Amino acid sequence: MKISQSLAAILVEQNKPLKIESIEFPSELEIGQVLVKLHFSGICGSQLGEIRGVKGDDKYLPHLMGHEGCATVLEIGPGVKTIANGDLVVLHWKKGDGIQSNPPKYKLRGENINAGWITTFNEYAIVSENRCTTIPKDTNKRIASLFGCAITTGFGVIENNANLKIGESIVIYGSGGIGLNMIQAASLRNAFPIIAVDLTDEKLHLAKQIGATHTINSKYYDPEKKINEILKNTKLDVFVDNTGIPSVIEMGYRITDINGRVVLVGVPKIGNNINLFSLPLHFGKTILGSHGGDIKPEKDILRYLNLINNREIDLEIIISQFCNLEEINSAISKFSKGEIPGRLMIKF
Ligand SMILES: [Zn+2]
Repeated sequence: MKISQSLAAILVEQNKPLKIESIEFPSELEIGQVLVKLHFSGICGSQLGEIRGVKGDDKYLPHLMGHEGCATVLEIGPGVKTIANGDLVVLHWKKGDGIQSNPPKYKLRGENINAGWITTFNEYAIVSENRCTTIPKDTNKRIASLFGCAITTGFGVIENNANLKIGESIVIYGSGGIGLNMIQAASLRNAFPIIAVDLTDEKLHLAKQIGATHTINSKYYDPEKKINEILKNTKLDVFVDNTGIPSVIEMGYRITDINGRVVLVGVPKIGNNINLFSLPLHFGKTILGSHGGDIKPEKDILRYLNLINNREIDLEIIISQFCNLEEINSAISKFSKGEIPGRLMIKF
């Protein structure tokens, strides 16, 4: 194989900085595996959650990280048909076309380092064919990497889960990388009002730039009261929760119309249960979880990319900061404190 080692950020222990080490690659690609060179990788709330252990114990430690990126294909393994050498690809965590390979077998000083079907906090990676989608070679690589998670989840939630219609009202609670893309998608669907709620003014400023018609800083204002003031006597059709916080979800459920939809996107901490009065569910109200916006990578990535290019939508404004792999721990620490309003991105 063309590459024998790569620098990688490794999660060795929860709630500890990632270790930056050079890992060793296997000598051959297996069936359905693809060797890539990363250009950019986004860092999203899911990885923060993994580091903090929000889902509980992590039986895969030590392991590699990251699930959205843009890369060039250096080599393809046996059986790979949808991807060719030299392709520019989006690396995404959702399953697409092609083979689901075995996860790669990396080593560090003779010890196994676990990795999933896609990892992106490493300069070179072996990924599964079904986590790669080829895009035109002249695509902006920074934007392309966001198609691995942020854009596709944001857009998918709006069209597949919320089923937002022209002129409907929506609250997007949490305006980080994915939330901003939901706002963009809601704006493309001509929703009104599009109310963004967050704890930092910088995020809300970005939210406004990308299409929110109203913003609420929930650090200073009671969000429920403010949302009702904005809606006046009109109804709330859609509430999207990006926080996973029970009180936020319960509020969203309470203020949504009888035919409204509550969409849960934020990952709740283990044990964070919600308490709902279920009667409205008999009469048309719905509450549903989203699995990455329920998109189909091989169809939706190219469709969204085409729209963004042709409508000249500037998604670059949602990228707030770049770091290199060596700076990842300090960047993640700023990100976790809410000091980076939009997407944090690793540049290789
Ligand atoms: Zn993500």
